[in-house]
Amino acid sequence: MVRDLTGVELFRPSVHMVRMDTPITPTIPFDNSYARLPERFFSRVNPTPVAAPQLIRVNEPLARDLGIDPAALASPEGIAMLAGNRIAEGSDPIAMAYAGHQFGNFVPQLGDGRAILIGEVLDTHGIRRDIHLKGAGRTPYSRMGDGRAALGPVLREYIVSEAFAALGIPTTRALAAVTTGDWVLREEPLPGAVLARVASSHIRVGTFQFFAARKDTEAIRTLADYAIARHYPDLTDRPEKYRDFLSAVIARQGELIAKWMYVGFIHGVMNTDNCAITGETIDFGPCAFMDTYHPSTVFSSIDHAGRYAFASQPAIANWNLVRFAETLLPILGDTQEQAIAAAQERIDAYPAVFQAAITDGYAAKLGIENKSSDDTTLIQDFLTVMANGAADYTLSFRTLSDAAEDPAKEAGLSALFSEAAGLDAWLLRWRQRLATDARAPRDIAAAMRAVNPVIIPRNHQVEAAIKAAVGTGDFAPFHRLVDELAKPFDDRPGIDDLKLPPKPDEIVRATFCGT
Ligand code: AMP
Ligand code: MG
Repeated sequence: MVRDLTGVELFRPSVHMVRMDTPITPTIPFDNSYARLPERFFSRVNPTPVAAPQLIRVNEPLARDLGIDPAALASPEGIAMLAGNRIAEGSDPIAMAYAGHQFGNFVPQLGDGRAILIGEVLDTHGIRRDIHLKGAGRTPYSRMGDGRAALGPVLREYIVSEAFAALGIPTTRALAAVTTGDWVLREEPLPGAVLARVASSHIRVGTFQFFAARKDTEAIRTLADYAIARHYPDLTDRPEKYRDFLSAVIARQGELIAKWMYVGFIHGVMNTDNCAITGETIDFGPCAFMDTYHPSTVFSSIDHAGRYAFASQPAIANWNLVRFAETLLPILGDTQEQAIAAAQERIDAYPAVFQAAITDGYAAKLGIENKSSDDTTLIQDFLTVMANGAADYTLSFRTLSDAAEDPAKEAGLSALFSEAAGLDAWLLRWRQRLATDARAPRDIAAAMRAVNPVIIPRNHQVEAAIKAAVGTGDFAPFHRLVDELAKPFDDRPGIDDLKLPPKPDEIVRATFCGT
Protein backbone atom coordinates (compact mmCIF):
# COMPACT_ATOMS: atom_id res chain seq x y z
CA MET A 1 0.00 0.00 0.00
CA VAL A 2 1.23 3.48 -0.81
CA ARG A 3 1.61 5.62 2.28
CA ASP A 4 0.57 8.80 0.55
CA LEU A 5 -1.00 11.33 2.87
CA THR A 6 -2.72 13.13 0.03
CA GLY A 7 -3.67 10.27 -2.24
CA VAL A 8 -7.07 8.69 -2.37
CA GLU A 9 -5.99 5.33 -3.82
CA LEU A 10 -5.11 3.92 -0.42
CA PHE A 11 -7.22 0.85 0.03
CA ARG A 12 -9.28 -1.36 -2.08
CA PRO A 13 -10.99 -3.41 0.57
CA SER A 14 -12.66 -6.43 -0.87
CA VAL A 15 -16.40 -6.24 -0.69
CA HIS A 16 -17.33 -9.40 1.06
CA MET A 17 -20.10 -11.73 0.00
CA VAL A 18 -22.68 -9.02 -0.45
CA ARG A 19 -24.65 -8.59 -3.64
CA MET A 20 -23.80 -5.26 -5.23
CA ASP A 21 -26.06 -5.52 -8.25
CA THR A 22 -28.92 -3.34 -7.06
CA PRO A 23 -27.97 -0.28 -5.07
CA ILE A 24 -30.84 0.27 -2.69
CA THR A 25 -31.26 3.06 -0.19
CA PRO A 26 -31.09 1.39 3.20
CA THR A 27 -34.38 1.70 4.95
CA ILE A 28 -33.66 1.33 8.60
CA PRO A 29 -36.72 1.01 10.81
CA PHE A 30 -35.39 3.41 13.44
CA ASP A 31 -37.36 3.63 16.66
CA ASN A 32 -35.35 5.91 18.91
CA SER A 33 -35.94 6.14 22.63
CA TYR A 34 -32.73 7.34 24.31
CA ALA A 35 -32.86 10.52 22.24
CA ARG A 36 -36.27 11.24 23.83
CA LEU A 37 -34.76 11.29 27.34
CA PRO A 38 -33.98 14.68 28.95
CA GLU A 39 -31.46 16.75 27.02
CA ARG A 40 -28.78 16.55 29.70
CA PHE A 41 -28.40 12.82 28.90
CA PHE A 42 -26.66 13.45 25.57
CA SER A 43 -25.63 15.95 22.93
CA ARG A 44 -27.18 16.03 19.48
CA VAL A 45 -24.35 15.81 16.97
CA ASN A 46 -24.03 14.54 13.43
CA PRO A 47 -21.15 12.36 12.28
CA THR A 48 -18.39 14.25 10.46
CA PRO A 49 -18.13 13.19 6.80
CA VAL A 50 -15.03 11.36 5.59
CA ALA A 51 -13.13 11.58 2.31
CA ALA A 52 -13.68 8.32 0.48
CA PRO A 53 -15.53 5.58 2.33
CA GLN A 54 -15.21 2.01 1.16
CA LEU A 55 -16.87 -1.05 2.54
CA ILE A 56 -14.79 -3.63 4.36
CA ARG A 57 -17.56 -5.97 5.42
CA VAL A 58 -21.24 -6.16 6.21
CA ASN A 59 -22.43 -8.69 8.77
CA GLU A 60 -25.25 -10.20 6.76
CA PRO A 61 -26.92 -12.41 9.39
CA LEU A 62 -26.83 -9.59 11.94
CA ALA A 63 -28.24 -7.08 9.45
CA ARG A 64 -31.12 -9.45 8.72
CA ASP A 65 -31.67 -9.96 12.44
CA LEU A 66 -32.07 -6.21 12.74
CA GLY A 67 -34.55 -6.10 9.88
CA ILE A 68 -32.07 -4.33 7.60
CA ASP A 69 -31.33 -5.50 4.06
CA PRO A 70 -27.58 -6.29 3.96
CA ALA A 71 -27.41 -5.46 0.24
CA ALA A 72 -28.77 -2.02 1.00
CA LEU A 73 -26.05 -1.49 3.61
CA ALA A 74 -23.47 -2.45 0.99
CA SER A 75 -24.90 -0.02 -1.59
CA PRO A 76 -23.24 3.37 -2.10
CA GLU A 77 -25.94 5.03 0.03
CA GLY A 78 -25.51 2.38 2.70
CA ILE A 79 -21.74 2.83 2.77
CA ALA A 80 -22.20 6.61 2.96
CA MET A 81 -24.46 6.11 5.96
CA LEU A 82 -22.05 3.70 7.65
CA ALA A 83 -19.24 6.22 7.21
CA GLY A 84 -21.32 9.09 8.59
CA ASN A 85 -21.49 10.90 5.24
CA ARG A 86 -25.22 10.55 5.02
CA ILE A 87 -27.90 10.63 7.70
CA ALA A 88 -30.47 7.93 7.11
CA GLU A 89 -34.12 8.76 7.42
CA GLY A 90 -35.35 8.36 10.98
CA SER A 91 -31.86 8.61 12.43
CA ASP A 92 -31.45 11.06 15.33
CA PRO A 93 -27.71 11.08 15.99
CA ILE A 94 -26.56 11.70 19.56
CA ALA A 95 -23.41 11.34 21.63
CA MET A 96 -24.21 9.92 25.08
CA ALA A 97 -22.95 11.55 28.26
CA TYR A 98 -21.15 9.40 30.81
CA ALA A 99 -18.42 9.51 33.41
CA GLY A 100 -16.19 6.74 34.71
CA HIS A 101 -13.45 5.43 36.90
CA GLN A 102 -10.45 4.90 34.66
CA PHE A 103 -7.83 2.69 36.30
CA GLY A 104 -9.36 3.65 39.64
CA ASN A 105 -9.44 7.43 39.09
CA PHE A 106 -12.80 9.11 38.71
CA VAL A 107 -13.33 11.28 35.62
CA PRO A 108 -16.65 13.17 36.03
CA GLN A 109 -17.09 13.69 32.31
CA LEU A 110 -16.17 11.31 29.54
CA GLY A 111 -19.01 10.62 27.11
CA ASP A 112 -18.99 9.37 23.53
CA GLY A 113 -15.90 11.15 22.29
CA ARG A 114 -15.67 9.32 19.02
CA ALA A 115 -18.87 7.39 18.73
CA ILE A 116 -22.33 8.47 17.72
CA LEU A 117 -25.56 6.63 18.39
CA ILE A 118 -27.40 6.99 15.08
CA GLY A 119 -30.55 5.36 16.40
CA GLU A 120 -32.28 2.26 17.72
CA VAL A 121 -34.17 -0.49 15.97
CA LEU A 122 -36.43 -3.25 17.23
CA ASP A 123 -34.86 -6.43 15.89
CA THR A 124 -36.79 -9.35 14.45
CA HIS A 125 -37.17 -10.76 18.01
CA GLY A 126 -38.60 -7.47 19.24
CA ILE A 127 -35.41 -6.58 21.15
CA ARG A 128 -34.42 -2.91 21.07
CA ARG A 129 -30.84 -2.45 19.85
CA ASP A 130 -28.54 0.54 19.40
CA ILE A 131 -26.72 1.24 16.15
CA HIS A 132 -23.59 3.14 16.94
CA LEU A 133 -20.85 4.46 14.67
CA LYS A 134 -17.44 4.26 16.35
CA GLY A 135 -14.88 6.62 14.85
CA ALA A 136 -17.55 8.94 13.43
CA GLY A 137 -15.88 12.24 14.29
CA ARG A 138 -15.64 14.76 17.09
CA THR A 139 -18.40 15.32 19.63
CA PRO A 140 -18.72 17.71 22.57
CA TYR A 141 -17.10 14.92 24.65
CA SER A 142 -14.00 14.46 22.49
CA ARG A 143 -11.71 16.43 24.81
CA MET A 144 -8.28 16.29 23.10
CA GLY A 145 -9.21 13.39 20.83
CA ASP A 146 -9.82 13.50 17.11
CA GLY A 147 -13.06 11.52 17.24
CA ARG A 148 -11.62 8.92 14.91
CA ALA A 149 -10.69 5.25 14.95
CA ALA A 150 -7.76 3.60 13.21
CA LEU A 151 -8.34 0.62 10.94
CA GLY A 152 -6.46 -1.90 13.14
CA PRO A 153 -8.58 -1.49 16.28
CA VAL A 154 -11.76 -1.50 14.17
CA LEU A 155 -10.77 -4.84 12.65
CA ARG A 156 -9.81 -6.21 16.08
CA GLU A 157 -13.19 -5.24 17.55
CA TYR A 158 -14.96 -6.74 14.54
CA ILE A 159 -13.10 -10.05 14.81
CA VAL A 160 -13.25 -10.43 18.59
CA SER A 161 -16.82 -9.26 19.15
CA GLU A 162 -18.14 -11.58 16.44
CA ALA A 163 -16.05 -14.46 17.80
CA PHE A 164 -17.56 -13.74 21.22
CA ALA A 165 -21.07 -13.95 19.81
CA ALA A 166 -20.26 -17.35 18.29
CA LEU A 167 -18.74 -18.50 21.60
CA GLY A 168 -22.02 -17.62 23.31
CA ILE A 169 -20.59 -14.75 25.37
CA PRO A 170 -22.81 -11.65 25.72
CA THR A 171 -21.27 -8.90 23.63
CA THR A 172 -21.81 -5.89 21.44
CA ARG A 173 -21.81 -6.90 17.79
CA ALA A 174 -20.18 -5.67 14.60
CA LEU A 175 -22.71 -4.75 11.93
CA ALA A 176 -20.26 -3.38 9.39
CA ALA A 177 -16.90 -1.74 8.95
CA VAL A 178 -15.77 0.84 6.40
CA THR A 179 -12.50 2.55 5.67
CA THR A 180 -12.68 6.33 5.50
CA GLY A 181 -9.97 7.23 3.00
CA ASP A 182 -8.64 9.62 5.67
CA TRP A 183 -5.57 9.20 7.82
CA VAL A 184 -5.67 9.31 11.58
CA LEU A 185 -2.59 10.44 13.42
CA ARG A 186 -1.45 8.20 16.26
CA GLU A 187 2.27 7.49 16.85
CA GLU A 188 2.29 7.34 13.06
CA PRO A 189 -0.35 8.09 10.43
CA LEU A 190 -2.76 5.20 10.20
CA PRO A 191 -5.68 4.53 7.88
CA GLY A 192 -9.01 5.52 9.39
CA ALA A 193 -12.09 3.35 9.69
CA VAL A 194 -15.56 3.38 11.21
CA LEU A 195 -17.17 0.44 12.97
CA ALA A 196 -20.94 0.16 13.05
CA ARG A 197 -21.54 -1.44 16.41
CA VAL A 198 -24.75 -2.90 17.73
CA ALA A 199 -25.53 -3.20 21.45
CA SER A 200 -28.59 -3.97 23.55
CA SER A 201 -27.80 -0.50 24.81
CA HIS A 202 -24.78 1.65 25.58
CA ILE A 203 -25.79 2.44 29.16
CA ARG A 204 -22.77 1.96 31.36
CA VAL A 205 -22.02 2.10 35.06
CA GLY A 206 -20.37 5.36 34.03
CA THR A 207 -23.68 6.71 32.72
CA PHE A 208 -25.10 6.45 36.25
CA GLN A 209 -21.89 7.92 37.66
CA PHE A 210 -22.27 10.96 35.40
CA PHE A 211 -25.50 11.92 37.16
CA ALA A 212 -24.42 10.76 40.61
CA ALA A 213 -21.41 13.09 40.39
CA ARG A 214 -23.83 15.94 39.69
CA LYS A 215 -26.14 14.88 42.55
CA ASP A 216 -28.91 14.68 39.96
CA THR A 217 -31.23 12.18 41.66
CA GLU A 218 -34.05 12.84 39.23
CA ALA A 219 -31.81 11.78 36.34
CA ILE A 220 -30.66 8.66 38.24
CA ARG A 221 -34.28 7.67 38.71
CA THR A 222 -35.15 8.41 35.07
CA LEU A 223 -32.14 6.43 33.85
CA ALA A 224 -32.88 3.51 36.18
CA ASP A 225 -36.53 3.44 35.06
CA TYR A 226 -35.43 3.55 31.43
CA ALA A 227 -32.87 0.76 31.93
CA ILE A 228 -35.36 -1.41 33.83
CA ALA A 229 -38.04 -0.97 31.16
CA ARG A 230 -35.58 -1.72 28.40
CA HIS A 231 -33.42 -4.48 29.89
CA TYR A 232 -35.15 -5.89 32.95
CA PRO A 233 -38.88 -5.40 32.18
CA ASP A 234 -39.85 -8.16 34.63
CA LEU A 235 -38.76 -5.86 37.47
CA THR A 236 -41.01 -2.96 36.52
CA ASP A 237 -43.77 -3.72 38.99
CA ARG A 238 -41.63 -5.09 41.80
CA PRO A 239 -41.93 -3.29 45.15
CA GLU A 240 -38.12 -3.13 45.44
CA LYS A 241 -37.46 -2.61 41.75
CA TYR A 242 -34.31 -0.49 42.11
CA ARG A 243 -32.75 -2.92 44.56
CA ASP A 244 -33.70 -5.80 42.27
CA PHE A 245 -32.24 -3.87 39.35
CA LEU A 246 -28.94 -3.67 41.22
CA SER A 247 -29.09 -7.43 41.86
CA ALA A 248 -29.90 -8.14 38.22
CA VAL A 249 -26.93 -6.10 37.00
CA ILE A 250 -24.71 -7.85 39.56
CA ALA A 251 -25.88 -11.24 38.32
CA ARG A 252 -25.34 -10.44 34.65
CA GLN A 253 -21.90 -9.00 35.31
CA GLY A 254 -20.86 -12.03 37.40
CA GLU A 255 -22.02 -14.40 34.69
CA LEU A 256 -20.25 -12.36 32.03
CA ILE A 257 -16.88 -12.34 33.79
CA ALA A 258 -17.16 -16.09 34.37
CA LYS A 259 -17.66 -16.55 30.62
CA TRP A 260 -14.56 -14.47 29.88
CA MET A 261 -12.59 -16.71 32.20
CA TYR A 262 -13.70 -19.91 30.46
CA VAL A 263 -12.11 -18.79 27.21
CA GLY A 264 -9.04 -17.11 28.70
CA PHE A 265 -10.11 -13.59 27.76
CA ILE A 266 -8.53 -10.50 29.26
CA HIS A 267 -10.49 -7.32 28.64
CA GLY A 268 -7.66 -4.98 29.50
CA VAL A 269 -9.69 -1.83 30.33
CA MET A 270 -12.37 -2.79 32.83
CA ASN A 271 -13.06 0.83 33.67
CA THR A 272 -16.58 1.67 34.84
CA ASP A 273 -17.26 3.46 31.55
CA ASN A 274 -16.60 0.13 29.82
CA CYS A 275 -19.00 -1.79 32.05
CA ALA A 276 -22.41 -2.11 30.36
CA ILE A 277 -25.40 -2.56 32.64
CA THR A 278 -26.81 -5.13 30.18
CA GLY A 279 -23.96 -7.50 30.99
CA GLU A 280 -22.64 -7.35 27.44
CA THR A 281 -18.91 -7.13 26.79
CA ILE A 282 -18.15 -3.67 25.44
CA ASP A 283 -15.07 -1.88 24.11
CA PHE A 284 -12.56 -4.34 22.79
CA GLY A 285 -9.52 -2.12 23.16
CA PRO A 286 -6.27 -3.71 24.27
CA CYS A 287 -8.05 -7.00 24.92
CA ALA A 288 -6.38 -10.35 24.33
CA PHE A 289 -6.78 -14.08 24.77
CA MET A 290 -4.23 -16.03 26.76
CA ASP A 291 -2.36 -18.69 24.87
CA THR A 292 -0.21 -20.12 27.68
CA TYR A 293 -2.22 -20.22 30.87
CA HIS A 294 -1.13 -18.09 33.76
CA PRO A 295 -3.55 -16.34 36.11
CA SER A 296 -1.49 -13.17 36.40
CA THR A 297 -1.31 -12.55 32.64
CA VAL A 298 -1.63 -8.90 31.54
CA PHE A 299 -1.40 -7.67 27.95
CA SER A 300 -2.55 -4.07 27.92
CA SER A 301 0.34 -1.66 27.46
CA ILE A 302 -1.52 0.93 29.56
CA ASP A 303 -2.23 -1.42 32.46
CA HIS A 304 1.10 -0.77 34.17
CA ALA A 305 0.05 -2.02 37.60
CA GLY A 306 -1.63 -5.16 36.28
CA ARG A 307 -4.94 -3.93 37.72
CA TYR A 308 -6.89 -5.83 35.07
CA ALA A 309 -4.84 -9.06 35.03
CA PHE A 310 -6.70 -12.23 34.03
CA ALA A 311 -7.35 -13.51 37.55
CA SER A 312 -8.15 -10.03 38.92
CA GLN A 313 -11.16 -9.59 36.63
CA PRO A 314 -13.78 -11.05 39.01
CA ALA A 315 -12.65 -8.75 41.84
CA ILE A 316 -12.50 -5.73 39.54
CA ALA A 317 -16.05 -6.39 38.36
CA ASN A 318 -17.02 -6.46 42.05
CA TRP A 319 -15.30 -3.09 42.53
CA ASN A 320 -17.12 -1.65 39.51
CA LEU A 321 -20.44 -2.95 40.84
CA VAL A 322 -19.83 -1.24 44.19
CA ARG A 323 -19.36 2.02 42.25
CA PHE A 324 -22.65 1.26 40.49
CA ALA A 325 -24.45 0.59 43.79
CA GLU A 326 -23.17 3.92 45.12
CA THR A 327 -24.82 5.78 42.25
CA LEU A 328 -28.18 4.17 43.09
CA LEU A 329 -28.08 5.03 46.82
CA PRO A 330 -30.46 8.02 46.50
CA ILE A 331 -33.19 5.71 45.18
CA LEU A 332 -32.50 2.55 47.20
CA GLY A 333 -34.16 3.52 50.49
CA ASP A 334 -36.06 6.16 52.42
CA THR A 335 -33.05 6.96 54.56
CA GLN A 336 -29.38 6.81 53.73
CA GLU A 337 -28.85 4.06 56.33
CA GLN A 338 -31.55 1.93 54.73
CA ALA A 339 -30.14 2.53 51.27
CA ILE A 340 -26.60 1.61 52.31
CA ALA A 341 -27.79 -1.53 54.08
CA ALA A 342 -29.80 -2.59 51.01
CA ALA A 343 -26.91 -1.88 48.64
CA GLN A 344 -24.50 -3.79 50.87
CA GLU A 345 -26.82 -6.78 51.06
CA ARG A 346 -27.16 -6.93 47.27
CA ILE A 347 -23.45 -6.42 46.65
CA ASP A 348 -22.58 -9.13 49.15
CA ALA A 349 -24.30 -11.62 46.84
CA TYR A 350 -21.76 -11.04 44.05
CA PRO A 351 -19.03 -13.49 45.16
CA ALA A 352 -21.55 -16.34 45.38
CA VAL A 353 -23.11 -15.44 42.02
CA PHE A 354 -19.71 -15.38 40.37
CA GLN A 355 -18.53 -18.52 42.12
CA ALA A 356 -21.60 -20.47 41.03
CA ALA A 357 -21.20 -19.31 37.43
CA ILE A 358 -17.48 -20.05 37.24
CA THR A 359 -17.85 -23.48 38.86
CA ASP A 360 -20.71 -24.42 36.53
CA GLY A 361 -18.72 -23.35 33.51
CA TYR A 362 -15.50 -25.08 34.49
CA ALA A 363 -17.38 -28.22 35.50
CA ALA A 364 -18.88 -28.32 32.00
CA LYS A 365 -15.43 -27.72 30.50
CA LEU A 366 -14.20 -30.78 32.41
CA GLY A 367 -17.17 -32.88 31.31
CA ILE A 368 -18.79 -33.02 34.74
CA GLU A 369 -22.54 -33.27 34.54
CA ASN A 370 -23.78 -33.09 38.12
CA LYS A 371 -21.33 -30.86 39.88
CA SER A 372 -20.68 -31.16 43.61
CA SER A 373 -18.70 -28.98 45.98
CA ASP A 374 -15.66 -31.30 45.72
CA ASP A 375 -15.34 -30.40 42.05
CA THR A 376 -13.96 -26.97 42.91
CA THR A 377 -10.70 -28.60 44.00
CA LEU A 378 -10.54 -30.76 40.88
CA ILE A 379 -11.02 -27.64 38.72
CA GLN A 380 -8.47 -25.58 40.64
CA ASP A 381 -5.93 -28.38 40.50
CA PHE A 382 -6.20 -28.63 36.71
CA LEU A 383 -5.59 -24.90 36.42
CA THR A 384 -2.59 -25.19 38.72
CA VAL A 385 -1.11 -28.06 36.72
CA MET A 386 -1.70 -26.04 33.55
CA ALA A 387 0.00 -22.95 35.00
CA ASN A 388 2.98 -25.00 36.22
CA GLY A 389 3.28 -26.64 32.83
CA ALA A 390 2.85 -23.39 30.84
CA ALA A 391 0.23 -25.21 28.80
CA ASP A 392 -1.92 -23.64 26.12
CA TYR A 393 -5.29 -22.88 27.72
CA THR A 394 -7.54 -23.51 24.72
CA LEU A 395 -5.73 -26.59 23.44
CA SER A 396 -5.54 -28.14 26.91
CA PHE A 397 -9.29 -28.07 27.38
CA ARG A 398 -9.93 -29.19 23.82
CA THR A 399 -7.44 -32.06 23.96
CA LEU A 400 -8.88 -33.08 27.30
CA SER A 401 -12.27 -33.27 25.55
CA ASP A 402 -10.82 -35.70 23.03
CA ALA A 403 -9.14 -37.69 25.80
CA ALA A 404 -12.52 -38.15 27.48
CA GLU A 405 -13.42 -40.72 24.86
CA ASP A 406 -9.95 -41.79 23.71
CA PRO A 407 -7.35 -42.21 26.48
CA ALA A 408 -4.65 -42.42 23.78
CA LYS A 409 -5.12 -38.65 23.36
CA GLU A 410 -3.59 -38.13 26.81
CA ALA A 411 -0.18 -38.21 25.15
CA GLY A 412 -1.19 -35.20 23.05
CA LEU A 413 -2.34 -33.43 26.17
CA SER A 414 0.85 -34.06 28.03
CA ALA A 415 2.81 -32.81 25.03
CA LEU A 416 1.25 -29.38 25.61
CA PHE A 417 2.88 -29.16 29.04
CA SER A 418 6.51 -28.06 29.45
CA GLU A 419 6.37 -29.70 32.83
CA ALA A 420 3.75 -32.45 33.08
CA ALA A 421 4.36 -33.31 36.75
CA GLY A 422 1.04 -33.72 38.42
CA LEU A 423 -0.89 -34.18 35.17
CA ASP A 424 -1.08 -37.99 35.33
CA ALA A 425 -2.27 -37.98 38.90
CA TRP A 426 -4.83 -35.34 38.04
CA LEU A 427 -6.07 -37.30 35.02
CA LEU A 428 -6.62 -40.32 37.22
CA ARG A 429 -8.78 -38.29 39.63
CA TRP A 430 -10.64 -36.75 36.70
CA ARG A 431 -11.48 -40.15 35.18
CA GLN A 432 -12.68 -41.41 38.54
CA ARG A 433 -14.89 -38.35 38.84
CA LEU A 434 -16.35 -38.74 35.33
CA ALA A 435 -17.16 -42.38 36.06
CA THR A 436 -19.56 -41.28 38.82
CA ASP A 437 -21.74 -39.35 36.33
CA ALA A 438 -22.79 -42.46 34.37
CA ARG A 439 -22.52 -40.84 30.95
CA ALA A 440 -20.96 -42.65 28.03
CA PRO A 441 -17.43 -41.40 27.20
CA ARG A 442 -18.62 -40.43 23.72
CA ASP A 443 -21.34 -38.25 25.14
CA ILE A 444 -18.99 -36.68 27.66
CA ALA A 445 -16.53 -35.83 24.88
CA ALA A 446 -19.29 -34.37 22.70
CA ALA A 447 -20.56 -32.23 25.59
CA MET A 448 -17.03 -31.03 26.31
CA ARG A 449 -16.36 -30.15 22.68
CA ALA A 450 -19.54 -28.06 22.69
CA VAL A 451 -18.05 -25.80 25.39
CA ASN A 452 -14.30 -26.02 24.71
CA PRO A 453 -13.58 -24.14 21.49
CA VAL A 454 -11.10 -25.51 19.01
CA ILE A 455 -10.30 -22.02 17.73
CA ILE A 456 -10.35 -18.62 19.40
CA PRO A 457 -9.14 -15.24 18.07
CA ARG A 458 -5.51 -15.78 18.98
CA ASN A 459 -3.61 -12.52 19.31
CA HIS A 460 -0.92 -13.35 16.79
CA GLN A 461 -3.52 -14.27 14.20
CA VAL A 462 -5.54 -11.12 14.86
CA GLU A 463 -2.33 -9.07 14.61
CA ALA A 464 -1.38 -10.80 11.35
CA ALA A 465 -4.82 -10.06 9.88
CA ILE A 466 -4.51 -6.41 10.92
CA LYS A 467 -1.02 -6.16 9.55
CA ALA A 468 -2.07 -7.53 6.16
CA ALA A 469 -4.98 -5.08 5.94
CA VAL A 470 -3.13 -2.01 7.19
CA GLY A 471 0.18 -2.80 5.52
CA THR A 472 -0.85 -4.02 2.09
CA GLY A 473 -4.62 -3.56 1.84
CA ASP A 474 -5.06 -7.33 1.94
CA PHE A 475 -8.29 -8.03 3.82
CA ALA A 476 -8.39 -11.76 3.02
CA PRO A 477 -6.89 -12.88 6.38
CA PHE A 478 -9.42 -10.65 8.21
CA HIS A 479 -12.35 -12.15 6.30
CA ARG A 480 -11.05 -15.68 6.83
CA LEU A 481 -10.72 -15.16 10.60
CA VAL A 482 -14.24 -13.74 10.86
CA ASP A 483 -15.64 -16.59 8.75
CA GLU A 484 -13.88 -19.40 10.60
CA LEU A 485 -14.42 -17.97 14.09
CA ALA A 486 -18.17 -18.10 13.45
CA LYS A 487 -17.86 -21.84 14.18
CA PRO A 488 -15.44 -22.03 17.12
CA PHE A 489 -16.48 -25.45 18.42
CA ASP A 490 -16.39 -27.50 15.20
CA ASP A 491 -13.12 -29.13 14.27
CA ARG A 492 -12.84 -29.42 10.51
CA PRO A 493 -10.32 -29.50 7.68
CA GLY A 494 -8.71 -26.21 6.72
CA ILE A 495 -8.31 -24.65 10.15
CA ASP A 496 -5.17 -26.41 11.41
CA ASP A 497 -3.12 -23.21 11.33
CA LEU A 498 -5.76 -21.35 13.33
CA LYS A 499 -5.56 -23.88 16.15
CA LEU A 500 -1.88 -23.31 16.71
CA PRO A 501 -0.45 -21.22 19.52
CA PRO A 502 2.11 -18.62 18.43
CA LYS A 503 5.66 -19.60 17.64
CA PRO A 504 8.15 -17.83 19.95
CA ASP A 505 8.67 -15.00 17.45
CA GLU A 506 4.90 -14.57 16.95
CA ILE A 507 4.00 -14.07 20.61
CA VAL A 508 2.15 -10.80 21.22
CA ARG A 509 3.41 -9.49 24.56
CA ALA A 510 1.58 -6.17 24.76
CA THR A 511 -1.59 -4.85 23.23
CA PHE A 512 -2.39 -1.21 22.70
CA CYS A 513 -5.53 0.75 23.35
CA GLY A 514 -7.86 1.28 20.44
CA THR A 515 -7.48 5.05 20.57
P1 AMP B 1 -11.98 3.95 25.69
O1 AMP B 1 -10.67 3.79 26.36
O2 AMP B 1 -11.99 3.60 24.23
O3 AMP B 1 -13.08 3.26 26.42
O4 AMP B 1 -12.31 5.51 25.72
C1 AMP B 1 -12.34 6.28 26.90
C2 AMP B 1 -12.90 7.65 26.59
O5 AMP B 1 -12.06 8.34 25.66
C3 AMP B 1 -14.28 7.65 25.98
O6 AMP B 1 -14.96 8.78 26.47
C4 AMP B 1 -14.00 7.78 24.50
O7 AMP B 1 -15.08 8.32 23.80
C5 AMP B 1 -12.81 8.72 24.50
N1 AMP B 1 -11.97 8.55 23.31
C6 AMP B 1 -11.19 7.52 23.00
N2 AMP B 1 -10.56 7.72 21.83
C7 AMP B 1 -10.96 8.92 21.36
C8 AMP B 1 -10.66 9.69 20.19
N3 AMP B 1 -9.81 9.26 19.26
N4 AMP B 1 -11.28 10.88 20.08
C9 AMP B 1 -12.13 11.33 21.01
N5 AMP B 1 -12.44 10.66 22.13
C10 AMP B 1 -11.87 9.46 22.32
MG1 MG C 1 -14.97 2.98 26.33
